[in-house]
Amino acid sequence: MAKLIDGKKIREFNLDKISAEVAELKEKGIETCLAVIIVGSDPASRVYVNNKKTACERVGIRSLEFALPEETTTEELLELIDKLNADSSVNGILCQLPVPEQIDKNAVLKRIFPCKDVDCFHPENVGALSTGTGRLMPCTPMGMMKMLEYEGIDPAGKHCVIIGRSDIVGKPMAMLMLAQSATVTICHSKTVNLAEITKQADILVAAVGRPNFVTADMVGEGAIVLDVGINRNADGKLCGDVDFEQVKEKASMITPVPGGVGPMTIAMLMQNTLTAARIQNNIL
Ligand code: NDP
Repeated sequence: MAKLIDGKKIREFNLDKISAEVAELKEKGIETCLAVIIVGSDPASRVYVNNKKTACERVGIRSLEFALPEETTTEELLELIDKLNADSSVNGILCQLPVPEQIDKNAVLKRIFPCKDVDCFHPENVGALSTGTGRLMPCTPMGMMKMLEYEGIDPAGKHCVIIGRSDIVGKPMAMLMLAQSATVTICHSKTVNLAEITKQADILVAAVGRPNFVTADMVGEGAIVLDVGINRNADGKLCGDVDFEQVKEKASMITPVPGGVGPMTIAMLMQNTLTAARIQNNIL
């Protein structure tokens, strides 16, 4: 049976380290600060924003929240971003997605200064990621790399198969894996013979958004399985993309849902905010 990769334990390990480094900066007179913008009243977004606030408190990062009404225009949002860009006491800026449809999301993501872009969505940071020169990293993929590091797994030479090619998970995960010398295959909805490919994976990443999508016959004996999915099954219970009960009998290591990849994402947001504070203060 597979060893469980415990996302909560690894999150706490990383948050302890981040907390110590935030305190070190404070001793140098630098107070690390994250600004979070939320537009409208989407309940899921509200939960995410509250969780981010709690994580900031946990590591000693000052958090600012800007809650804007549902009818906010692109121009009004850009105006706020300009103010936060210009405010040297703000190190990281995050606009909680999704934004209401009248707002031009790409214009918003491009407006945040790359050095304050803690979600790593700005095209300049995406480009830096692909050339291996980035300092700020996409949170969910970076979280998975930290999990592997914690478990002593070196991706070099391993075949990493990623199911999903989104800008948030699949593509940046491929870049991080390549940077660590894995051999990478990206699969998506048009991939032919998916199971034949996924069975070859030493490390299988599932980022599809469908409950029980990855079944045991798609997984090779001894594979490491990282489940990014956050879904609800027919009973309304939280579950990932992997058929956990079956696949855990075949994999050597597996992340559960909940308690796997999810907890790492916010920890990496804290990491990026700390890195942004270092960049802005020339502390490398
Ligand atoms: P997207 O919907 O943006 O991407 C899903 C990907 O899955 C697409 O590339 C799609 O292919 C692919 N796909 C869909 N159906 C199939 C299929 N039948 N065979 C192969 N590939 C398929 O989702 P995200 O990447 O944003 O998120 C994926 C999951 O991860 C979701 O459950 C989301 O909630 C979760 N998530 C969790 C996070 C965390 O912190 N743990 C953070 C971010 C996301 P195509 O491109 O061809 O359409």
